[in-house]
Amino acid sequence: MFKISGLSVICCLSLTLSNFWADNVAAQHASNISTPIQDGSAPDESNLNSLIIDSDMEFEEAVAGKNIPRNILINLELVNVYYYGFDGNLRKGQLVVHKDAVQDVEEIFDFIRETKFPLDKVVPLSAYNWSDEKSMKDNNSSAFNYRFISGTRIISKHATGLAIDINPMLNPYIKNEVCTPAGSSYDTTKAGTLKADSPLVLEFKKRGWKWGGDWKNLKDYQHFEKNLK
Ligand SMILES: [Zn+2]
Repeated sequence: MFKISGLSVICCLSLTLSNFWADNVAAQHASNISTPIQDGSAPDESNLNSLIIDSDMEFEEAVAGKNIPRNILINLELVNVYYYGFDGNLRKGQLVVHKDAVQDVEEIFDFIRETKFPLDKVVPLSAYNWSDEKSMKDNNSSAFNYRFISGTRIISKHATGLAIDINPMLNPYIKNEVCTPAGSSYDTTKAGTLKADSPLVLEFKKRGWKWGGDWKNLKDYQHFEKNLK
């Protein structure tokens, strides 16, 4: 049975739809506007020997290969983040986000790391040639992607860096009992899955982020977004 609430397992139908934290390197936009790479707070140094690098881009690499309007580009920043993988290893990734979301992202990733909420990887969409589908199937957590809301011509909150997706294979988009990405499923007993009372969901919400798991007509369990005041 398809059941959203509780600890039920939702089996999804298959559907194909279309340096380190100390290196405060200043990157240059294509437009020559200086944008520093923001550095999430440092993890415990004793863990750094085993740090696995999932992403270590310069800003230009993180926004390369996509025609991004200048008014959007100038508001983007690249944030280094640290988290534990499902293998228990400390990992470094990066998120491209709106500059006004940087502080939230740093605080939320401190929480993710301190509570060891597992993430597979956090890599900018440029590494996936801007394919949301490829990124999701790789269970990649990400933020900025200059794209429309799936199936519409409406600009997504991801297109301004004000939306974040967490563990998409575990927290699918579900509409009419169909899960996206293909092969994903929603099982709230699994580590890395989000539900209404998850501490991570509450961390986002207390900073003003909305969660796609609260939406009525469809569920987007991976998705958080924020409106700027
Ligand atoms: Zn999303």
